[in-house]
Amino acid sequence: MPELLGCVAEQPLVDHHCHGVLARDADEATLESMLNEGTGWRGGSQFDSQAGFAFRRWCPPVLGLPPHAELADYVARRAELGATEVSKRFLVGAGMSAMCVDTGFTPEPITSPAELGGLAGATAHEIVRLERVAEDVVAAGVGADGFAGAVRSALATRAAGAVGFKSIAAYRTGLDLNPERPSDAEVTAAAGRWLASYTPGRTGPPRIADQTLQRFLIWCGVDLGLPVQFHIGYGDSDVDLHLCNPLLLTPLLRAIQPTGVPVMLLHNYPYHREAGYLAQVFPQVYVDAGLATHNLGRRAPALLAEALELAPFGKFLYSSDAFGLPELYYLGAVLFRRALSDFLAAGLEEDLYSERTVVRLARMLCADNARRAYGLASQML
Ligand SMILES: [Zn+2]
Repeated sequence: MPELLGCVAEQPLVDHHCHGVLARDADEATLESMLNEGTGWRGGSQFDSQAGFAFRRWCPPVLGLPPHAELADYVARRAELGATEVSKRFLVGAGMSAMCVDTGFTPEPITSPAELGGLAGATAHEIVRLERVAEDVVAAGVGADGFAGAVRSALATRAAGAVGFKSIAAYRTGLDLNPERPSDAEVTAAAGRWLASYTPGRTGPPRIADQTLQRFLIWCGVDLGLPVQFHIGYGDSDVDLHLCNPLLLTPLLRAIQPTGVPVMLLHNYPYHREAGYLAQVFPQVYVDAGLATHNLGRRAPALLAEALELAPFGKFLYSSDAFGLPELYYLGAVLFRRALSDFLAAGLEEDLYSERTVVRLARMLCADNARRAYGLASQML
């Protein structure tokens, strides 16, 4: 296996899209259920996959076990070390200087951004999930008439402590969105329809899934001037993947362009080439290959090379999209570094660029592009 280029191995990463980690120990069933976006089935294991083999190759040594250790031994060693020590080892091992943490997805207790940053030895920043804020406003009892104003003011409050917003319109309505900003009357009518179908205590927590309301939230985020992240492409079985092609966002990207607000297209796989095109033609669009990097395992170098076919190198950001398992932050980082090192080394070999350029590109792709796009303080090296 080729050595990593020094400039890639040593460069701290800015992970611009990730979530918290579990505070509890993880048994084999938990590891399998959180390894990827799939659901277990009888007679097989999710570990027999690219993500599974990458996990078994790279993670055991961090806990002092040989590569390819049996899962039962791995789980026993994990329990022996305890959740906090395991999290620390993987998060520190990922070599991050900063993280942008989506706090809107909490199906079970996970660490806050500050706790996550503490474990990783990195600065943690918050990304506020737009839908979650609207759902919290409704759960607090705000009616249709007060909805638009209450959401705007809640988002303005949250923006003060955050570096960006995130839209999961892809999960709720798909991305084929009318680009126009809805009027307050349209928002009130749509909120009324939504609230009519929601009975507190009877229908579960409120869940927003309405094109007018999704557009309203996105424009609220744009108006507050912070970067807006969009879930794109690959996700669990809640997404209709054919409605998550980023090209569907083209009219909205055109409408947002004059504001200059950065739009971050997350994950993108299998539409990473389409996303790269959008990053080239829209000045405010940035892309990553999070989630897919560790799910594709040894194919991560091919993914990165394809993502960088059209995307300007100054518009590509690193992300793990890790959730729950600290191993996923580590795997994302290891596989991204391997892919980037292969990519840059091939260019050096072909005399496509100089050693000096390679050092500059490594800094940009690992950290500086994200720092510039989110306005994060630059790191002292
Ligand atoms: Zn995510």
